[in-house]
Amino acid sequence: MSVTHPHPTPQATSRAPGIPGIKHVIAVASGKGGVGKSTTACNLALGFAALGHKTGILDADVYGPSQPKLFGLRGKPRMTAERKLEPMERFGVKVMSVGFLVDEDLAMIWRGPMVMSAITQMLREVAWGELDVLVVDLPPGTGDAQLTMAQQTPLTGAIIVSTPQDLALLDARRGIAMFRRVNVPLLGLIENMSNFCCPACNRVTAIFGHGGARGEAKKVGIPFLGEIPLTMQLRETSDDGRPVVATEPDGVHARHYIDIARSVWSGIGAAGRPAPRIIIE
Ligand code: ADP
Repeated sequence: MSVTHPHPTPQATSRAPGIPGIKHVIAVASGKGGVGKSTTACNLALGFAALGHKTGILDADVYGPSQPKLFGLRGKPRMTAERKLEPMERFGVKVMSVGFLVDEDLAMIWRGPMVMSAITQMLREVAWGELDVLVVDLPPGTGDAQLTMAQQTPLTGAIIVSTPQDLALLDARRGIAMFRRVNVPLLGLIENMSNFCCPACNRVTAIFGHGGARGEAKKVGIPFLGEIPLTMQLRETSDDGRPVVATEPDGVHARHYIDIARSVWSGIGAAGRPAPRIIIE
């Protein structure tokens, strides 16, 4: 009997087959909308790219696709000769969004199976090429659509974004339970809109409280990845298609995201290593 490490490439952990050329697929999720999940997914993807990883982002938030706006992209993706969709590219990141493909009002009324088929197409019928990491911006919530997606996407792991107040954390807890149910590893929790520093008087105020997500992460036994403050600059740059990690990579806000990207990467480096396979000879 011998123990071998059969495959040097990290494997996805869900039941869904992997996507050729893509090493890691990471979901960014939230228990509810408006907590800054898309802004975080965008800047995190840029953080991976800043660390030198080949990165893509798939905006699977069919009910409110934000990545075109966050990346300042518009238009329709082209079709390659192999009849695959060509992702758009900005700031060194490949971007595909349901927002490029269908009218937002139409996607709003999609039911579970339609959502899943659109996402499967965007995962597998897009010419992503070779990627170290594909960040997937999932629709908020923990309903059937999200559960199916978590199950059918070959995820290395999931990151949950929450604001610090109790109500948001309650939803985040449901998100954590959902990923656990389908055996997707939780890479960690990010506290967004953590503190507000008044630009006029420099006073720091914890509008939604502070530290709630750190406590929650500890309670449920997942890594706490960091805090992102609530700032005008983040709001403005996001809404203007000038995400901070791309436009002010040396600034203090970009640093938060890059640090989080670094710790997620070191986490998946370890978690992605396949379990040894026992071969009986
Ligand atoms: P979600 O994807 O959870 O619905 P978004 O990323 O679309 O949330 O963010 C909702 C709004 O909050 C956007 O206008 C965005 O610019 C803003 N926002 C997100 N994170 C921050 C932050 N840390 N500071 C200030 N504004 C933020």
